[in-house]
Amino acid sequence: MTELNWDIVFAGSGLSGLSLALECARRPFFQDKKILLLDRDEKTKNDRTWCFWATDEEMASLPPVVFSTWDKCLFFGDGFEAALDIAPYRYRMVRGLDFYDWAKAILSKSSQIERIMANINGIDALNGIVHTDKGDFGGDWVFNSALTKIPVLPASSAMYPQPPLTSLGHDSGQDAAAPHTFLLQHFKGYLIKSPSPVFDVRAMTFMDYRIEQKGETRFVYVLPFSATEALVEFTVFSPALCPADEYDAMLRGYIRDFLKITTYEVLETEFGVIPMSDYPFTPHTEGRVVHIGTAGGFVKASSGYAFKRTQRRIKALADAWERSGQPAPELLRSKWRYRFYDAVLLRVLKDNAVAGKDFFTSLFQQLPAPLVFRFLDEDATFADDIRLLNAPPAWPFFKKALRQMRYYSKI
Ligand SMILES: Cc1cc2nc3c(=O)[nH]c(=O)nc-3n(C[C@H](O)[C@H](O)[C@H](O)COP(=O)(O)OP(=O)(O)OC[C@H]3O[C@@H](n4cnc5c(N)ncnc54)[C@H](O)[C@@H]3O)c2cc1C
Repeated sequence: MTELNWDIVFAGSGLSGLSLALECARRPFFQDKKILLLDRDEKTKNDRTWCFWATDEEMASLPPVVFSTWDKCLFFGDGFEAALDIAPYRYRMVRGLDFYDWAKAILSKSSQIERIMANINGIDALNGIVHTDKGDFGGDWVFNSALTKIPVLPASSAMYPQPPLTSLGHDSGQDAAAPHTFLLQHFKGYLIKSPSPVFDVRAMTFMDYRIEQKGETRFVYVLPFSATEALVEFTVFSPALCPADEYDAMLRGYIRDFLKITTYEVLETEFGVIPMSDYPFTPHTEGRVVHIGTAGGFVKASSGYAFKRTQRRIKALADAWERSGQPAPELLRSKWRYRFYDAVLLRVLKDNAVAGKDFFTSLFQQLPAPLVFRFLDEDATFADDIRLLNAPPAWPFFKKALRQMRYYSKI
């Protein structure tokens, strides 16, 4: 099948593809546009959970599919423990499946939007053609969230059968992307059920660093959904995955030693990997292709969060497109100063110049959590920046900042 007369083609229809398609569906400017969504996956499984902090005001422009909300965030660091006051933010969780079902229900009402299940093999950026196992599909604009040229995630394996992003693999790999830093945020979670009430549903554990660090950044977070059910997630920032049984050993040990739960049932497990990199994924122009989502660098390099950023960037892109008649990929990038901070922090963490545990402990010990959240959202004021930059140990950051300055034009 060859169909080249689409206005907009989405190569990949997960979080970012569906979010932009929803923006198109609700705006009069796109009403006469023929839109095609391509993906190899039907999106009928709860393949991930998205957590993020947001104010009630921000929620007005975020998908109305929140599954759980917490006002209290517990932090356990090195010699510091606190119930963080996060107001005006609340910590929220969206189940992937709820988002997919909600998005698909809205899009199915739109006669100009079509979805085709297909495996994408490549994209001809110049001509705006997506090559798939079901044929070629072309359009004026292609929004790619499925393919990357740089292999940012580990290849598929028994533990990680289908990475969410396909690496085209014909680039010479991450070495080609020097001087950029690549880390992986990898995690395994157990949704556990205990026979008796053990959890406080009002308080989630944001980061618990009391576990062995092994020269990396390792923490556990706990999301309680009821007095008897919680998602317990062991998370690591490091260049490579752990052996498969290490995730299970860490989870079982944490549940036993810190949650003090001995009898429980594992209802579901989750495994995921998020790339954390300062690689500049979003070129200003690449023919008819605009890269979005993880493939477009939407993941915050120093934290791995992307859900709220995706909604904000997609809205900003759609607003400007409506105003100017053209999509403007440069709107999808963070400001230079945030790219620089992320590059420095990533380098510090990768070289273990300051342990992640010490860095995050110093932030939450010295600063109000909402300030840290504002900074991570890239909404900080200049005064916030100064306070934040003074919180962690200065010298290791200064040295890494000097190193990154050499590459300032590539950040
Ligand atoms: C398990 C997990 C948990 C996460 N949790 C959080 C969180 O709590 N908070 C947060 O802010 N961020 C989180 N993230 C990071 C980020 O928000 C998500 O990865 C988000 O889904 C990225 O959106 P995207 O559109 O780039 O990718 P995706 O939503 O993964 O969409 C990409 C789409 O491309 C399709 N695709 C890939 N290759 C091909 C191909 N060859 N042919 C056809 N289709 C293809 C995939 O099927 C998929 O539907 C998480 C990521 C993962 C993996």
